[in-house]
Amino acid sequence: MERCEICGLPIALCTCKTRELELQVIKIRVEKRKWGKDVTIIEGVPDDDIYDIAKYLKSKCACGGTVKENMIILQGRHTRRVRELLEKRGFPSERIEVEE
Ligand SMILES: [Zn+2]
Repeated sequence: MERCEICGLPIALCTCKTRELELQVIKIRVEKRKWGKDVTIIEGVPDDDIYDIAKYLKSKCACGGTVKENMIILQGRHTRRVRELLEKRGFPSERIEVEE
């Protein structure tokens, strides 16, 4: 029988994943990169959705970007726009933190 690595319960009884999603907070911040360029970093997007969301954000913000180590990295400064877009995708606004 397959067991959860976190709580040790059989997968069918485990609620870790659900709890994790409920507690998941998305953090948006801007970092300065070499050559003075800003990038917007989004952390906390669920793994299953991350490529979809990255694609969505890139097209809506009309910018380049990548997914790296569970983070979405967009070129340029898009904190407000990203927050709005994530809310449109159904992420509750109280679970989105923006570091200005
Ligand atoms: Zn578990």
